[in-house]
Amino acid sequence: MTLSAPQMGVGPRALLRRLREAMVEPVAAQQRLDRTVELIAANMVAEVCSIYIRRAGDQLELCATKGLQPSAVHKTRLRFGEGLVGEIARTAEPLNLTDAPHHPKFAYRPETGEDPFHSFLGVPILKGGHVLGVLVVQNQTQRHYSEEELEALQTVAMVLAEIVASGQLIQLDDAVIDEEITPTRPYRQNGVGFADGVAVGKVILHAPPIKDHALFAEDVTVELQRLEQGVEQLRQSIDSMLSAVDSSLIGEPRDVLEAYRMFAHDRGWVRRMEEAVGHGLTAEAAVEQVQSDTRARLSRQRDPYIRDRLHDLDDLAHRLLRFLAGKDNGSVREYPAGAILVAHNLGPAELLDYDPNRLGGVILAEGSPGSHVAIVARAMAVPMVGMVDGVLDHVKEGDWAVIDGENGEIYLRPTQGILSAYDEKIALHEQRQAKFTAIRNAPATTRDGHEIELQMNAGLLVDLQHLDLAGAQGIGLFRTELQFMVSSTMPRLGAQVSFYQEVLDTAGHRPVTFRTLDLGGDKILPYGHVRREANPALGLRAIRLALARPALLRYQLRALLMAAAGRGLRVMFPMVAEVEEYRQARALLDVEVERLKRLNQALPDKLEVGCMIEVPSLVWQLGALLPLVDFVSVGSNDLIQFFFASDRTNPQVSDRYDFLSPTVLGLLRHILAECRAHNLPVSLCGEAAGQPLEAMALIGLGFRAISMPPARIGPVKLMARGLHVEQLAQFMDDLFLRPDRSVRHLLKEYAEKNGVIV
Ligand code: PEP
Ligand code: MG
Repeated sequence: MTLSAPQMGVGPRALLRRLREAMVEPVAAQQRLDRTVELIAANMVAEVCSIYIRRAGDQLELCATKGLQPSAVHKTRLRFGEGLVGEIARTAEPLNLTDAPHHPKFAYRPETGEDPFHSFLGVPILKGGHVLGVLVVQNQTQRHYSEEELEALQTVAMVLAEIVASGQLIQLDDAVIDEEITPTRPYRQNGVGFADGVAVGKVILHAPPIKDHALFAEDVTVELQRLEQGVEQLRQSIDSMLSAVDSSLIGEPRDVLEAYRMFAHDRGWVRRMEEAVGHGLTAEAAVEQVQSDTRARLSRQRDPYIRDRLHDLDDLAHRLLRFLAGKDNGSVREYPAGAILVAHNLGPAELLDYDPNRLGGVILAEGSPGSHVAIVARAMAVPMVGMVDGVLDHVKEGDWAVIDGENGEIYLRPTQGILSAYDEKIALHEQRQAKFTAIRNAPATTRDGHEIELQMNAGLLVDLQHLDLAGAQGIGLFRTELQFMVSSTMPRLGAQVSFYQEVLDTAGHRPVTFRTLDLGGDKILPYGHVRREANPALGLRAIRLALARPALLRYQLRALLMAAAGRGLRVMFPMVAEVEEYRQARALLDVEVERLKRLNQALPDKLEVGCMIEVPSLVWQLGALLPLVDFVSVGSNDLIQFFFASDRTNPQVSDRYDFLSPTVLGLLRHILAECRAHNLPVSLCGEAAGQPLEAMALIGLGFRAISMPPARIGPVKLMARGLHVEQLAQFMDDLFLRPDRSVRHLLKEYAEKNGVIV
């Protein structure tokens, strides 16, 4: 028989009030716990109410019951996944059953005297997405608990979670507290180094949750109004972000903001929070409850897209909490110098909200080395370790942290031993930096007198300071698309001209090689229409996009020509796959030159036009291409990803093949031989150029100019100055013929034997 829905007679609000009264009674913790189950049972007209609390080793202990055998209290234990209670803990999902004993997960425990109870409603006690215990009500009859009852029990469980975590009800096991609530032990985790450098500092959490708010609503109407106001402020802030992405918000891609907006306007989300307030919670507690529940559900999803949305939802909930606390007034956050920023993920704009000179390092739970935030971190020389899965579950604001961008490791609350080891490492790092500074203005001349030209990659005005700081001889790759990505609207001709002028002015006598827009793929503008592609890296990007919509490229070429009037201009085209594409791009440049001539406008003194070698097909057309160009630059990041068919942004495969493999060396050797035959300057501007061992191999093969992130120039110069090129070239002569998958070990051995610092 199924009884009709009841029965939460006086409703959760009255229950919460009574619970609150019970919490302040001066009685022992166990009595308080017993009183709690009694109150819940009475309020829900249940014959049984039990609380199971998580213990170390993923065990759940029956800590209080009304209705089961009192002798089972503190005796009955279930593992996660065992029985109905264990299943709720394992899945972090409620179970609502009319006939519990017939459920496949039912585990009979004779000591509890559970047999006569058929209907069962259990919910997880969750805090911050973690299961702290399970709350259950049971009835003898086969009744069906209504949705309202389920939600009411969840509200009670949420309040219990706060009270349990605060230790007012029961002493939690240290291990559970450490791991689940207030992590205190030293903790080490491997991630992936996104930007080099080592730092020790105090943790600041990106958008830290607002703590210390009341749980129970004094006045529900007031709380509902506060929630409504907060949601309204949140929506307005998202809308204004979207309509006028300000130029400091670089690269915050529009679809991310759109997703935020969608969530912020999601009626289901707001309704669930309103209901929680209706049950007697404060607006803040309601936001947290709904977020905790969502987090628990989403984090078990396999689909990475859905899991990624967690970041959006967390961020939204945190923003809402800040509005509720009246703390989001748009002011810049204060934080201690040298702080280590910890976040799920960041856009480049969010990173730039923090003053890079005051930031010690950044730890991300997600991200990828090829992401824009990683590129910006490298440009700003802020150590960054990403893909530290779940790090936010282990860290709290104010913890000490060590970040090691070289090894991709992080330590939280490090022991004195670790700190001393890192102090030493930092000192060594500083010594090395001092060595780089000492040779900053010295040439990269090898021991046998070969001049190696070390240039830097850049894309933003902030990068230009590194020309002097790092001692770069020029800019071998200026990624012009970055400026387009930082603007909220398409930069007009005038803005482009003055930007390129400023770049050229700052570079002075040092050459700058501008690469035309490399848009598309994952480089999406915050304005303009974006068509989703199944394989964006292979899609309508770079030169393909430019030739499909030539107006944009023509404007850019015009701006470059105007900016370089009276001085030299070097331009190159990205992602060219066949000579015809280069021809067409070059023809557009010629049209622009003719146009300026016609208008009697000043032109550059010297115009050098180059082509990037980034697509393997072009390597087999060099005979046709090279006579048409003034120089080439190997974009090894893309060239290698297409050569091995291995996505550079997918960490599961991006390291699968080695740059220092015989096959890559053979490929580069072929390019160099062709360029030599045509007497054409060639350089390489992928990330490999910045790795001393890889750079050594490049020089050994015959490259005399390479371009890299500015922070890599010091280490590469130090390596180059210890090198005997002719001897190395001999050593490398037949490496490309070897059957090995990689010759890294041989090159390393060579470096060690010959005292080359790599
Ligand atoms: C490359 O592909 O190697 C390159 C330098 O270009 P980007 O990294 O901007 O694609
Ligand atoms: Mg490229």
